[in-house]
Amino acid sequence: MEGTAVTTPDHMHAISPDTARAVDDVLDYARRRALYRDVPLDKPMTPRELERLASGSITADGIGARRAIALFENVLAPACISTDHPGYLSFIPSAPSKASLAFDVVVSASAVYGGSWMEGAGAVFAENEVLHWLAKEFGMPAAAGGVFVQGGTIGNLSALVTARDDARRRAAEAGRAAPARWVVVCSAEAHSSIASAAAVMDIDVATAEVDADGRLRGDAVARVLDEHGDAVFAVVATAGTTNFGIVDDIAGVGAAARERGVWFHVDGAYGLAAMLVPEARPAFAGVGLADSLIVDPHKWLFAPFDACALLYREPALALGAHTQKAEYLDTLTGTPDWNPSDLAIQLTRRARGLPLWFSLATHGTEQYRATIAHGIDLARRIADEISARDGLSLVREPQLSVVVFRRDGWSLADYEAWSAKLLDEQQGFVVPSSHRGEPVLRFAIISPLTTFELLTAILDTLQ
Ligand SMILES: *Cc1c(COP(=O)(O)O)cnc(C)c1O
Repeated sequence: MEGTAVTTPDHMHAISPDTARAVDDVLDYARRRALYRDVPLDKPMTPRELERLASGSITADGIGARRAIALFENVLAPACISTDHPGYLSFIPSAPSKASLAFDVVVSASAVYGGSWMEGAGAVFAENEVLHWLAKEFGMPAAAGGVFVQGGTIGNLSALVTARDDARRRAAEAGRAAPARWVVVCSAEAHSSIASAAAVMDIDVATAEVDADGRLRGDAVARVLDEHGDAVFAVVATAGTTNFGIVDDIAGVGAAARERGVWFHVDGAYGLAAMLVPEARPAFAGVGLADSLIVDPHKWLFAPFDACALLYREPALALGAHTQKAEYLDTLTGTPDWNPSDLAIQLTRRARGLPLWFSLATHGTEQYRATIAHGIDLARRIADEISARDGLSLVREPQLSVVVFRRDGWSLADYEAWSAKLLDEQQGFVVPSSHRGEPVLRFAIISPLTTFELLTAILDTLQ
């Protein structure tokens, strides 16, 4: 369907040989890509290269679906690193299950609106099934509930906005003046999104010292809480830091917050998924104390981008902070319905929890526990291998599925050159990170297709 000049206004929407062919072409490609036996790692191109190879696709009459999909498959997609490649070990990799990524297509094909019960009851019900299962696993009370938002950054921000709203109201009820500056307490190892939320909210961050293992503990939090008094509206513990996978002393931090009537938030965007593994569960003791928490399905729950599960102990407090009020919304907000839009910073929302729901329904919870456990086991094994090799050393023993190590004698420039070569040769994507000013290497393991052999082959290139 090349050069589909305008015919009638419904040309793009009507059921016709043209639209059917476009749908088929796209779904054929989606099916092929979803079932690639060897996912190519790929790599970025420069703007100039892409301009040369891919510009000119937006024209008055269109280039047709076939040419557009070919452009994507042959030029644009290869210029995107495959985050689901088993050798993608940087940041936090992505490893959506086949069921979840296929169902993401259904979410689009069905034009589901996930913001309100009135419009999306069935989708919202299914998302809530997942959220309630997660809440139970995390030890939250039965009344807990929440919403899938775009990512951990929005999840943390939404939770902290709810926490401040609650603190403001309680201060007003107690006849206390609001502080000049509200303060959130976290550790220096907390994710950058906490500082970002603080900037958006125009509040201050007070950092509490971590112990020798990099963990935030209750006594350190208690000291900072007592120093800042009523100005503190929330404490954030991290259940699996991004750089190291360290789980804070959640029970201790939670107790310190609760004793002082301060909101307790657990940021488990990456690591909280590991609480589903029975052997890892003890490290997460105290998560059930949280007033709010997050975990990202697009990280270690094998869902496609982008989804963060945000849970509240008392969802009503989030409604108070987030419900948008307007005449054109009265039909929705005037009812006691469960409207996901009202629990976070958003209005229109994709039912982005559905791919996880479908995959969980398909495979069951035990499969998830086993697949998450693979990452923890493999991290342990490769850490032992690193310790045993001359010239390599661990920066810290892994707790979850992140392994941080050094190549003795290498500078940042050495690491960068090695990393570029590894990507260039399409063997892996491992970028240097840093720890206390020292450049280091880091494997973040999510995909069950990442093997010990693949990792040792990468280590071999460091000799
Ligand atoms: C990834 C991450 C975030 C941010 O989540 P996004 O989905 O990338 O916005 C927040 N906290 C921690 C601990 C993370 O690992």
